[in-house]
Amino acid sequence: MSEIPTQLFINGEFRSSTQGKPAGLINPATEEIIAEIAGASAEDVAAAIESAHEAYRRGWRDLTPGKRTDVLFNIARLLRENMERIAQLESQSIGKPISDARDEAALGARVFEYYAGAITKFTGQTIPVARGGFDFTLRQPMGVVAAIVPWNFPFPIACWKVAPALAAGNSVVLKPASLSPLTALLLGQIARQAGLPPGVLQVLPGSGQETGDVLVTHPLIRKVSFTGSTSVGSRIMELASRGLKRVSLELGGKSPNIVFADADVDRAAMESPMSVFANTGQDCCARSRVFVERRVFDRFVDSFTAATRQLRVGNPVQDATQLGPLVSAGQRRVVEDFISEARKGGRRIAAGGDRPFPRGYYLNPAVVLEVEPSDRVWREEVFGPVVCIRPFDDEAKMIEEVNDSPYGLSGSLWTNDLRRALRVARQVESGVLSINSNSSVHVEAPFGGFKQSGLGRDLGMAAMEGYTELKNVYVGE
Ligand code: NAD
Repeated sequence: MSEIPTQLFINGEFRSSTQGKPAGLINPATEEIIAEIAGASAEDVAAAIESAHEAYRRGWRDLTPGKRTDVLFNIARLLRENMERIAQLESQSIGKPISDARDEAALGARVFEYYAGAITKFTGQTIPVARGGFDFTLRQPMGVVAAIVPWNFPFPIACWKVAPALAAGNSVVLKPASLSPLTALLLGQIARQAGLPPGVLQVLPGSGQETGDVLVTHPLIRKVSFTGSTSVGSRIMELASRGLKRVSLELGGKSPNIVFADADVDRAAMESPMSVFANTGQDCCARSRVFVERRVFDRFVDSFTAATRQLRVGNPVQDATQLGPLVSAGQRRVVEDFISEARKGGRRIAAGGDRPFPRGYYLNPAVVLEVEPSDRVWREEVFGPVVCIRPFDDEAKMIEEVNDSPYGLSGSLWTNDLRRALRVARQVESGVLSINSNSSVHVEAPFGGFKQSGLGRDLGMAAMEGYTELKNVYVGE
């Protein structure tokens, strides 16, 4: 394990934290410590931001688009060469099944390729203004961007913030979550090896309160791009408001999965378990509220529950594993509290909810039936392998129930009636929606939420716009 990066990555090299109080990083599958990491102190954060600002001014912002493209393609190439290492580190830190970790490492590389290519296709407008002359717009970089990412998809989310921010000409200070700093540190090192000038990407592990707060409030930070919980997102928006910093927030969710009787019900039932249980349910897009038209409710529930029991829960290092452990003992406790509260309230647990192994933070995926719309398990983000399924009779009432949530991130709807699909899709309050599919993320398309699920968009060209200021220039005749 000697090759595990554990220091701060500042100015193109690894450095010790000036605070020097390391905390152990626990592999949730074995409960063993795999590394000791000391988070960045306020002093380290300030030093990293100041030199990121220097690196921005010294030339990254002014580098020709062609040169920035070359660097980003180089990063993507090195990420592909290091894919297995990235996947192994991710899997050991957070218990992600290795096959998913490999897919996510590849996704990170793909994100860099997309934005490498986007640099030369990112254009302004010429505008025919009433007074004549020549009017055009420029998309200009902002300066130093703070990227704060969670532990559930640490590597891809880091990439989908860092790549567009760099492509647009900014420098970035990346703060991974305390539970998952390793692949972010590796990303910093790989980007440097790929030719990114020192200081343009700094990586600072550390806790939200010690490292995150200083980062968000520093005057040289122009934008905070955050993915995490709605409560922390709201605090970040409040802190950022003092300096009128730009923010983009990708937050929590409680996404619906709507199944009409005219759908391919068997297919929906077979595919839906992984739309909520993938990543052991620790997914902001988890379709944890399932609405099934009453005529096919029993059939759907039987197949869904049978498919859930077939899911392979186990050691994340094995290729066949579909669900690994939860990320920590604390996270498992939170999830178990939801399940025991539902049980005490008389709800039916049709499958799972128990611990399959004595070691590791594992939990069998739970199917909860007979819930009421006021139940906490139906309303709140559980962030674990728990699904609730309810029948519906009337389309309009069902849509009201779907939208009766502070969240609006993702969702699916299953029907073979095209007009119904389009009608319902328009009415569901969410930033992302799939019809006859469970997908949420496409590198080329905008990703983000309505309501308390967030503000701004990751991915696609929308993300690149979000890392620029729009300038209008008028040239008189
Ligand atoms: P979290 O909000 O606890 O932490 C996210 C990040 O913010 C971490 O790096 C953390 O250290 C940092 N942070 C915490 N307090 C901070 C503060 N005061 N100032 C600055 N930074 C601070 O979230 P988490 O537990 O890591 O992740 C789970 C949450 O993330 C879930 O709610 C999930 O829905 C959400 N999420 C959303 C998306 C999305 O794209 N919408 C994607 C993944 C996860």
